[in-house]
Amino acid sequence: MSTALVTGGSRGIGSVIAKTLARSGHDVAICYAGNEEAAAETVKECETFGIRALAFKADVSSEADVNELFSKVKEALGPVEVLVNNAGITKDGLLIRMSEADFDAVYETNLKGTFLCCKAAIKDMMKARYGKIINITSIVGITGNAGQANYAASKAGMIGLTKSIAKEYGAKGICVNAVAPGFIMTKMTEDLPDAVKEEYLKKISLKRFGTCEEVANTVEFLAGHGSDYITGQVIEVTGGMQ
Ligand code: NAP
Repeated sequence: MSTALVTGGSRGIGSVIAKTLARSGHDVAICYAGNEEAAAETVKECETFGIRALAFKADVSSEADVNELFSKVKEALGPVEVLVNNAGITKDGLLIRMSEADFDAVYETNLKGTFLCCKAAIKDMMKARYGKIINITSIVGITGNAGQANYAASKAGMIGLTKSIAKEYGAKGICVNAVAPGFIMTKMTEDLPDAVKEEYLKKISLKRFGTCEEVANTVEFLAGHGSDYITGQVIEVTGGMQ
């Protein structure tokens, strides 16, 4: 049985990705920032699919935490074959009011965290001559978004990282892709004012917001053998957002 690691798997999209990968037969490890209760709940739900599941508290922006996380996962479940870099945060604000601390925090979790986890995963994937890395970016990493300069820049950076690593390790049988969700109904988006949600809806061809399951289904495809000839791509899951 292969092992999947989902960062930020305690809640939101990451939790649904973890459960979806458990359903398709992977042993699943998740990491989280501090929400132990939610992480334990995700693990319990993953286990209902008859696989092994574990949660670890680890800050993806810390190299020490990431290295410790990967060695604990390997010891308990074996080397990571599927890595989903999903952990992410926002600290929105217009550029003129955005603090250096808010820029750094978003960059460090979203982009540096993805870099550190890819680096920690790659050696075992090279040894296996197989691996799947799926980076959860965002449509705003392609389009930009007012009030999200830090977040959009971090997500755009994830796309460059994805395409570069795909080129470096394709010859080793490792596929690296990104999934760019649009407006997905989660805690990250539910607090937005109704007027902002209305504006988004106007730009979405399917005239509805997406679900975590719809993102997780795309990740499941990229994690499995059905996508073995796809690498370096960004798959938009946006309902046709313009
Ligand atoms: P969410 O509900 O806010 O969950 C974020 C997850 O990341 C939690 O599990 C959190 O752990 C974890 N996390 C945060 N900082 C971390 C750190 N430094 N180290 C380890 N884990 C950390 O987020 P979401 O809405 O599901 O979004 C998931 C991903 O999809 C993000 O990368 C986001 O940018 C992307 N995305 C979301 C949307 C959307 O509409 N929601 C759209 C496009 C892209 P705790 O539970 O312990 O805090």
